[in-house]
Amino acid sequence: MNNSEWLDVTPAAPCQICGKDSWCTRLLDGRWGICRREAAGGLAKIDCNGVPYYIHRIDAYGRSGCGAPVQIGRALAQRLPALGVACESNTIPPAERADDATLSAVYNALLNDLRLDPRHFDDLARRGLSPAEIDWRQYRTLPPNGAPWIRNEVAGRLADRFGDDVLAKVPGFKRGTAATGRGYWTITGKAGLLIPVRNVKAEIVALKIRPDEPGDGGKYRALSSKHHGGPGPGQPAHVPLRPIDAAPCEGRTVAVVEGVLKADIVAALDPAQVPCIGIDGCGSWRSALPILRDLGAHRVNYYIDPDATDPNHPQVGSALKAFWQALKREGYEPAIALDTGRAA
Ligand SMILES: [Zn+2]
Repeated sequence: MNNSEWLDVTPAAPCQICGKDSWCTRLLDGRWGICRREAAGGLAKIDCNGVPYYIHRIDAYGRSGCGAPVQIGRALAQRLPALGVACESNTIPPAERADDATLSAVYNALLNDLRLDPRHFDDLARRGLSPAEIDWRQYRTLPPNGAPWIRNEVAGRLADRFGDDVLAKVPGFKRGTAATGRGYWTITGKAGLLIPVRNVKAEIVALKIRPDEPGDGGKYRALSSKHHGGPGPGQPAHVPLRPIDAAPCEGRTVAVVEGVLKADIVAALDPAQVPCIGIDGCGSWRSALPILRDLGAHRVNYYIDPDATDPNHPQVGSALKAFWQALKREGYEPAIALDTGRAA
């Protein structure tokens, strides 16, 4: 099964059905599109996160369908498991991405070689984080691409230290070729604030970027090499470091919030010091389950973003239901609250 025949939509090649430049997918041959937003004219399916998606036939003019109900044959049905909508872990062969310990070593070295811009420091301080907490959580600034070529220099030093083979398996790095024909390494992603995503062992398994100029692609995204033939970041949930001065906590109740930075802020500022997990959004609830197990959670408080009630996001309702059912099935005591009072 070849996953590369499914392409993520991009700003250059947006979804032919809804016109957006993210989240949707199309088949390489251009005859089928998977839209996450537009149900009309498509065949509705549910992915492994319980979120619906819609298969559309694309006509010769690049338009969706021709009004006829979509029927998919066996050949296409067999190709669906390879599709990005199934589960991101299915779309990325695990061999391509380094293990957590290696990712953490490379990302820690990367962060050690970057600094935190005063603008970003002030941003974090405004959200209530103390200078000590900002330092503790290792936020950095990813400088703009281009001259003075800081990215290339940092990536080059990491390649010298870890080797080309390792760097090729770390999301966020890519090879380029200079006009002289000489190869070099650089770092992908827009300029902005870098936020470490940690696993339960506090290893840095991904880096989120909050771009200074987000454009159309969302407020937060992870460093990825996916559009350069390398590994994607997956959808790891984030386990924030405990506050510097935290007393040990038994973790019977665990809070799940949407957003990596929000999780950090909750972890740093919550007077009750309830352990916290940050997930990308409702659709990524699966990533929280193994961590809830590791933390020995009993009660799970899920703080859902207010846009969950937005009728333009019907997928949130089905994901929420699926998450709730999974929590029940695994024996937790779930509670859901609308996340109104927390910093975004
Ligand atoms: Zn679409």
